Amino acid sequence: MFEKVLIANRGEIALRVHRACREMGIKTVAVHSTVDANAMHVKLADEAVCIGPAPAKDSYLNKAAIISAALITGADAIHPGYGFLSENADFAEMVEAHGITFIGPSPKMIRMMGDKVTAKKAAIESGLPVIPGSDGEVKTVEDALMWGEKIGYPVIVKAAAGGGGKGMKVAHNAAEMAEAFSLAKNEAKSSFANDMVYIEKYLQTPRHIEIQILGDNYGNVVHLGERDCSLQRNHQKVLEESPSPALNPEQRKEIGMIAANAMKKLGYSNVGTIEFLYENGRFYFLEMNTRVQVEHPITEAVTGVDIVRDQIRVSGGAVLGYTQDDIKFNGCAIECRINAENSETFIPCPGRIGQWHVPGGLDVRVDSGMYAGYQVPPNYDSMVAKLIVHGRTRNGALMRLRRALEEFVIEGIQTTIPLHQRIISDPEFIDGQYNIHWLEHFLERMHKEES
Ligand code: ADP
Repeated sequence: MFEKVLIANRGEIALRVHRACREMGIKTVAVHSTVDANAMHVKLADEAVCIGPAPAKDSYLNKAAIISAALITGADAIHPGYGFLSENADFAEMVEAHGITFIGPSPKMIRMMGDKVTAKKAAIESGLPVIPGSDGEVKTVEDALMWGEKIGYPVIVKAAAGGGGKGMKVAHNAAEMAEAFSLAKNEAKSSFANDMVYIEKYLQTPRHIEIQILGDNYGNVVHLGERDCSLQRNHQKVLEESPSPALNPEQRKEIGMIAANAMKKLGYSNVGTIEFLYENGRFYFLEMNTRVQVEHPITEAVTGVDIVRDQIRVSGGAVLGYTQDDIKFNGCAIECRINAENSETFIPCPGRIGQWHVPGGLDVRVDSGMYAGYQVPPNYDSMVAKLIVHGRTRNGALMRLRRALEEFVIEGIQTTIPLHQRIISDPEFIDGQYNIHWLEHFLERMHKEES
């Protein structure tokens, strides 16, 4: 196993990785930008290296600085966390070229899944159900119109290199196609320096349901059930739960096995998440994330599997050590992403944290890098904490969540705690009746009631 792991990230995920390493007896190296010198991940790690100024492109995205820090400190592996360089195949290759292990799947898998056109091809070949669409890139408006007719409107034009909800435009009919096609292409070019687009059927009221995968280097792959991440604003997840209120155990088992078998067929190892849209009882492959995800703790809560620990173990060449039959699903878990934002306007409000008190008690977990007196910098993502609760039933988890949100004290900055309190009191949410558009409608309703 590794002796020293460099954690190429910040915030709660850097802490999450540090904690797993500590429990495994592995030393940790934190890297940080100049504004993060006082961050919790820097304080907790065995060693810390400043890798550059505040802008992420000069620090957390600075490949050479990170690899140099690993070489200087003698780290034998790099954990990329999520975001930043976690899905950068070139970085993974550079790391390996320096004789350091990249904690993640192979660069080949990262590259294949990072391009949505090749990812969709791989999904089809490995037996995953996909959304009907163009077979690969669509190069001209004439071809786009041909596919629109063939698939049937509404359709969505999507960037092959897409991410963060950018480079996607819906066309409801042929008249809207020319504009949707050129807008998506231009946005793809300016956001990703790659204007390749493709087209697929636009599903109108789907849920977002994703399957957690974990595999070793010897062909052992298990799935850890699903997470329902339908509650989104601007394509950003806000609250996630496992299991999905929309699935029964048979459906879970079926899609879980399809996902795990597909990964075996592809030769995928390490952690990964296969995202699906789910509508009228059917799953459609959306994309695959080749890294640990923000919402992984809800899966840990219902399965008891320490995902980050096992990710590090398998990266170090260990055998997974358990099979699908060993995975038992227990109760229900919900995660709220708490952001330093105004809970109505969503304008980020970084600043100095005054009082900081996190909730506790049975089955309550808070993953956060914050503390009283900490200055939240304006340079990075606005998430300040993840609150995860577990209950034997969904109702039990909701009651616990309500209690835990009430206990949370964060002073000095505005947060989205009030938004979560409103969401979980809503009868439709309590019923589990929601799709990917529900939160937008809920927010419109909220604003109307107030004005
Ligand atoms: P990104 O990588 O930018 O997040 P995704 O392909 O994961 O892009 O899609 C992000 C979101 O866009 C989905 O969660 C869903 O809300 C919406 N979306 C994408 N493709 C479709 C589709 N074919 N039909 C309906 N909604 C879609």
